[in-house]
Amino acid sequence: MATLQGQPVLILKEGTQRTVGRDAQRMNILAARVIAEAVRSTLGPKGMDKMLVDSLGDVVITNDGVTILKEIDVEHPAAKMVVEIAKTQENEVGDGTTTAVVIAGELLKRAEELLDNEIHPTVIANGYRLAAEKAMEILREIAIDVSKEDEETLKKIASTAMTGKGAEVAIDKLSEIVVKAVKAVAEESNGKIEVDTDNIKIEKRTGASVEETELIEGIVLDKEVVHPGMPKKVKNAKILVFNGALEVKETETDAKINITDPEMLQKFIEQEEKMIKDMVDKIAEAGANVVFCQKGIDDLAQYYLAKAGILAVRRVKKSDIEKIAKACGAKILTDLRDISSEDLGEAELVEEKKIGDEKMVFVTGCKNPKAVTILVRGGTEHIVDEIARGIEDALKVVAVALEDGKVVAGAGAPEIELSLRLKEWAPSLGGREQLAAEAFAAALEIIPKTLAENAGLDPIDVLVDLKAEHEKGNKYAGVDVETGKVVDMKEAGVLEPLRIKTQAIESATEVAVMLLRIDDVIAAKELSKGKEDEGDEGGDMGGMGGMGF
Ligand code: ADP
Ligand code: MG
Repeated sequence: MATLQGQPVLILKEGTQRTVGRDAQRMNILAARVIAEAVRSTLGPKGMDKMLVDSLGDVVITNDGVTILKEIDVEHPAAKMVVEIAKTQENEVGDGTTTAVVIAGELLKRAEELLDNEIHPTVIANGYRLAAEKAMEILREIAIDVSKEDEETLKKIASTAMTGKGAEVAIDKLSEIVVKAVKAVAEESNGKIEVDTDNIKIEKRTGASVEETELIEGIVLDKEVVHPGMPKKVKNAKILVFNGALEVKETETDAKINITDPEMLQKFIEQEEKMIKDMVDKIAEAGANVVFCQKGIDDLAQYYLAKAGILAVRRVKKSDIEKIAKACGAKILTDLRDISSEDLGEAELVEEKKIGDEKMVFVTGCKNPKAVTILVRGGTEHIVDEIARGIEDALKVVAVALEDGKVVAGAGAPEIELSLRLKEWAPSLGGREQLAAEAFAAALEIIPKTLAENAGLDPIDVLVDLKAEHEKGNKYAGVDVETGKVVDMKEAGVLEPLRIKTQAIESATEVAVMLLRIDDVIAAKELSKGKEDEGDEGGDMGGMGGMGF
């Protein structure tokens, strides 16, 4: 509220909440740190899991940072920004989400100390930015090259990404599957490798051990053949991919048909039957022996298709329709009137098989070998889900490592190396920015420190040992979470794509800088209350949605 010659002037709407200066910064930093704290205990192979229960009572048990942050309902705007960096990290790299959030939290914590010492936020932001730039330079320097042929290294990257995600029981097999799948869909042009992991379909099925997870060169559908009279196995399949329905069309207007005698009724029914039969005849004439239909297939159509010896599957998901079309080289038809044999796709085999309790349809030997499916198995749904999440992470990191051709050691090795080198470099900045750069360097220690803490090790001892090794020039030294010893992680095979680290540091710096530069929060409603229709339970801890972390 401003005043003009003693008259109050209302500038902001009634009910608006405003926080300024240090209070605004403190509040934002707190909210962001609460988020970082919430996921910190899940970091690394010895990280703990979280059990998340949504408002419908559905349970998710996970160790995956981004899954946790997506599930919890975060209210505070600053906390939301931190959740955003986890999502960006997930999209850009597919892994390293917890790392990014934890580093952001620590950068903010150290910034708060600097603020307390009367260092201006702009100076801190500058120092952080410069340090992040230098960090990128150092990371590129210490990165290790990896090529498409180096399957051993690629497998290690996959297994590092899956460690701690319930996949340990079958880590070798799963890593192999992941590497094979990524290589199958990788495309090379002008010496550049590109991988679209969307071409790798993941299907989940309970009822067998994780060990039985398999890679299928083709597409697997969680569907069954629609009619018992149809063949269950078709070799040299000619495939029709149709995104409509094989049904008698309902009249579009509200027509009324007056039928005056039984003969007319009979004619009417015959006419409808004939339409369906003509449709099926057309399909058979074109030479199709398999039909994948995005919408329904009615009883009559099923009957005629079965009679024509055609295997048909109905209500196939749109995304699967697209995948099948791509894999088999089929055209997705919207109208059957102009079907021709050229529109059909091809596969060596289409087959229905019983997997677990239910049937699935396998399309294998496709024209385009760049279509693969990973059929994830496990004892329970929670296990299958968690393994599938691990596999998804691993697919993306292997893809990223292949695309960039660069990896770094994990287990805290790069963070310690960065921390030490940044500390050496910081004095070259001079002035107060040096203090910020030093704080940045110190903040990176949070990663090995947390890995040690989560493994029940003494973090101080571990940090001392790590620093000693790195000072000796052993730049790949990281913490072995089993023994607490410091070992060469390049040799131990704990490897991650370079992009995980560059992206995590970049986005953590970005969000820290962004929050530091805010000195005024003007909110249309009180921040600590939940939305009216969601109840008021989200009031504690700067507005975290009711999760009692
Ligand atoms: P994020 O969401 O950041 O990927 P994770 O829980 O997957 O979080 O933990 C990643 C961290 O765990 C990385 O710093 C990685 O180097 C480390 N890590 C992975 N495998 C091992 C291992 N076998 N020993 C020690 N550290 C490991
Ligand atoms: Mg990870």
